[in-house]
Amino acid sequence: MALALLSLGSNLGARAQTLDAACRALAALPGLREVRRSPWYETSPVGGPLGQEPFLNGAALWESSLTPIALLEQLHAVEEMHGRRREVPWGPRTLDLDLLLYDDAVVRTPELTVPHPRLSFRKFVLQGAAQVAGEMRHPVLGRTLGELWNQLQTAPRYVAFVGMTPGFRMQFAAEAAEASRARLIDPTPREVPAFETLLAADGRPPAQVIEFAEARRAAVESSLAEAGDEWVVDDGYLVDELQTLQPTRIDDAFISSTPQPRLLARLISDDAERGAVSFGLPQVELDVRRREEALAEFAAALDAAS
Ligand code: ATP
Ligand code: CA
Ligand code: CA
Repeated sequence: MALALLSLGSNLGARAQTLDAACRALAALPGLREVRRSPWYETSPVGGPLGQEPFLNGAALWESSLTPIALLEQLHAVEEMHGRRREVPWGPRTLDLDLLLYDDAVVRTPELTVPHPRLSFRKFVLQGAAQVAGEMRHPVLGRTLGELWNQLQTAPRYVAFVGMTPGFRMQFAAEAAEASRARLIDPTPREVPAFETLLAADGRPPAQVIEFAEARRAAVESSLAEAGDEWVVDDGYLVDELQTLQPTRIDDAFISSTPQPRLLARLISDDAERGAVSFGLPQVELDVRRREEALAEFAAALDAAS
């Protein structure tokens, strides 16, 4: 028996009855048994067309002897029983059933991605998920759902880009900030030193690296101080940039005293890059081969994490 964590949502019709009925329909299937269910809670729509009705969301933990893909087929069947039509992306729906986690399985096929790729930064999903499975660990991020939920509650509205090249990120981050009406970080200290040429013989970070890291931290802090309620967009993630320094790592005290992003935006241009390890932070993957969509997904991710 595996543990399958589901998210449920509805924003059309008799929402609570639909979510209850969906659980009953699943319970009637051989190989599925409900372990725990969160209360249903109301949330504002995120992404998708404007003017949608509020959602009723929740999460439920199930014991399953179905394979992940067989379970997904059953979820689709139950959605269809409730008149689900797939028309507008992230549009209104009578019922949405997503498979969030399946034990510690990592599945990446065209039909199914587990863990659900947008699980870690969606408040409307994590709220219930952390309630029914707070101890369950996200197998890619290495954090429990309770930890991911707490992080989302406390981290500042700060998003950092990783992936591609520094030059590409700088250009993309500027566009993304504009598209989502967020504040681009102060660009002054953005000259990334060639770390690999700077390795000090005594294993300590060279002065140039410390200077760079401190200038970056100051830029993050001052941008956050000025931003108020706005999101701050950073075209690099300091921890990622300092990674190339190993084994002369800047010590953990430096990292832990630097504001950490609420969200990482990973730029990818190749399917092989999907699901790369993300330093344990919530992340959204943006495929830059479809730039317009990537910018829209970025804006939706900021809304979801707000
Ligand atoms: P989101 O995935 O951002 O929550 P959505 O739930 O509105 O969006 P749907 O239109 O319901 O998206 O689903 C699109 C496709 O996603 C489905 O046809 C399904 O095959 C696929 N899919 C991939 N991984 C999962 C998963 N873990 N759970 C549910 N559907 C998934
Ligand atoms: Ca969904
Ligand atoms: Ca879905």
